[in-house]
Amino acid sequence: MTFVFYTILIIVCCNIFGFFLSLVSIHVNFLSKYRIQRRKIKASIFYDRLPLILFNIVLLIIVSAMGLYYLYPLFDPVINFNIKSIVLQIMLILLVDDLYFYFLHTWMHKNQFMLNKIHRIHHQAISPFALEYIYVHPLEWIMGYIGPFIAIFLISIFSPINILAFWIYQFIRNIHELDVHSGFKSIFSKWIPFWGESEHHDLHHEKLNGNYATTFTIWDHIFKTKIKQDEK
Ligand SMILES: [Zn+2]
Ligand SMILES: [Zn+2]
Repeated sequence: MTFVFYTILIIVCCNIFGFFLSLVSIHVNFLSKYRIQRRKIKASIFYDRLPLILFNIVLLIIVSAMGLYYLYPLFDPVINFNIKSIVLQIMLILLVDDLYFYFLHTWMHKNQFMLNKIHRIHHQAISPFALEYIYVHPLEWIMGYIGPFIAIFLISIFSPINILAFWIYQFIRNIHELDVHSGFKSIFSKWIPFWGESEHHDLHHEKLNGNYATTFTIWDHIFKTKIKQDEK
């Protein structure tokens, strides 16, 4: 089914980009001046973490393919270039997914069992590199992946899902995750209001506290969990 094939292609291409971005941040020394933290990443850490990262990517491809195969009836079977509906659906999926993730992520920090047994794996990265976005307990990203599917169900009550909107959402979400874990200072994203720039999530990894939002920082402002560099 071409519909599933292109979705997987987006995931694979984004992660290949993430692989090279990670290698660059580890092996290209002169770029270290553009990194947010001064901590140096040991190359051995990257190769030690690669098996779990690859396992999760393979699992991500399988779950995405199966999920989309079964949810196919909720999608518009023809490719529709209606810009207004594409933009609206992308925004809705991003917002619902992100709000869901904010509560899930906050809960994983407040609940000691979830923090110590599940989320702690992701927080082994104090100064992350790009692919560490998926250096997580498999249960964690599977729980996180419920968000976009809630959004799909909600939108489908009113209209079929535009596959272009879903593909663009998938691309934005993947690239954004790689960006906020890259460890590099943001260039453009810091100028977009309430858009989660790399400094925001990097600080979450450094301090293990606050800045629980990822795509939109507005949730940290609303729920008063925003932290700054000089806070403990
Ligand atoms: Zn966290
Ligand atoms: Zn993270």
